[in-house]
Amino acid sequence: MAENYRADTVFARLGDENGAPHYDLVEPAEFPEHILRYRNQRWAARVGLASLSDDAWIRHFGRFEPLPDNLTQPLAIRYHGHQFRTYNPDIGDGRGFLYAQLRDDQDRLLDLGTKGSGQTPYSRFGDGRLTLKGGVREILATEMLEALGVYTSKSFSLIETGEALQRQDEPSPTRSSVLVRLSHSHVRFGVFQRLAFEKNENAIAALIDYCIENYFPALSTPGDSNVIGFYTSVIQHTARLVAQWMAAGFVHGVLNTDNMNVTGESFDYGPWRFAPTADPGFTAAYFDQTGLYSFGRQAEAGAWNLAQLGGALAQQADVDALNKTLQLFSGFYETAMADAYFERLGLKRTGADDFKFVVDFLKWMTETGAPYEQVFFDWFCGAASVDRADHSAVAELYQQEKFASLKSRLLQYTPINPERLESRYFQNAGPCTMLIDEVEAIWAPIAEKDDWSAFERKLEAIAGMRDAYQFNASRYA
Ligand code: AMP
Ligand code: MG
Repeated sequence: MAENYRADTVFARLGDENGAPHYDLVEPAEFPEHILRYRNQRWAARVGLASLSDDAWIRHFGRFEPLPDNLTQPLAIRYHGHQFRTYNPDIGDGRGFLYAQLRDDQDRLLDLGTKGSGQTPYSRFGDGRLTLKGGVREILATEMLEALGVYTSKSFSLIETGEALQRQDEPSPTRSSVLVRLSHSHVRFGVFQRLAFEKNENAIAALIDYCIENYFPALSTPGDSNVIGFYTSVIQHTARLVAQWMAAGFVHGVLNTDNMNVTGESFDYGPWRFAPTADPGFTAAYFDQTGLYSFGRQAEAGAWNLAQLGGALAQQADVDALNKTLQLFSGFYETAMADAYFERLGLKRTGADDFKFVVDFLKWMTETGAPYEQVFFDWFCGAASVDRADHSAVAELYQQEKFASLKSRLLQYTPINPERLESRYFQNAGPCTMLIDEVEAIWAPIAEKDDWSAFERKLEAIAGMRDAYQFNASRYA
């Protein structure tokens, strides 16, 4: 272990003094094979794990031998949740667990959690496994989102495990894998919902204290759990996350209350898609027939989920105060939308009119069906890109009358660090994208002939984009 490896198993210490522990101790599955497919060296370095040999990496992230001074046994976290607006008390970590907790170079508490590591008491009829395609898709989503400035969990490790899985949504049998993700918290809204369902108010109070201490330390005032302050922070962070998804053109796909956590960190990537255009009705999951979680309804989903979290806090604070706090969502969301779109455009915020500009800009994108990522690529740093936009494959769109007034507004904003345009990425003809056809084209050679070259090439292209934009989404501590 490097010097900066720092174990800190705070969640386990939360304990069961209230008669309702937050987890069950579980055993990892034993897999017939362990083929290392991906290790995230960039993030491993930040938590002191980059120097592990591949063998040691597999022992920890494929066989789950405990890390030094860390959890001695994995914890399957208990939670409930609203799935497509129906309450389900039978969920929980059904194919994952909390494996370790660490401090990073900024003293942030980070979790190493798994997906596909075996059955738990919450597996119901599931096999506790993750398909290799599911693992590959989660890596592609997280790498893309991080590069685009979205606060997301990181894919830390992917190991192929040599089993044959049966799935409805993939040609089966299909290959298996186990993923490890690094994230800031695993405290889902559904963790609070479960405690409220069990009427365990002491445990809710203790969990709020835990969240404040570890995730919102600025709220800490000794002897005061500051429930409203906590709820306000979660609302603000959720608004920021949804705005970042929007600005990235990303549709998460399954915005159930168990897939949102208190730090507003994007995680749990299933049927996600990037939207080709700003079509509000664009939907990611084939099973989302009504478009509940479509591109244009993600803010509504966030607000609805926050209302459920508020409900779970109802015995902890004055209900009117909680309701009033929830109403802050739309204001937070407007600010977050302006922040996120201006960041993506590489422009300096000026004032309250910025949000109006974003609304008009999005409206134009929706009406014209402009290719989403291309527009941000073409107009990065506004006035500094006029020449580049003139040479775009869709330059014709920018010459149309209906873009004229938007363009003149765009050109009035001050670019931030326009020297970023000198990077190689912006010399390319078009942006790095991750539309569904590209995802399938990366997966096909892996499935057909175990050829990972398209996957590796894509990760390199994303790294080029990340280095060019320098958004540094991990600054959201
Ligand atoms: P998700 O749709 O991935 O957010 O999962 C919703 C719930 O189903 C969670 O409780 C998961 O742990 C559980 N789950 C999903 N897939 C499986 C599986 N293959 N085996 C066991 N549990 C699963
Ligand atoms: Mg989930």
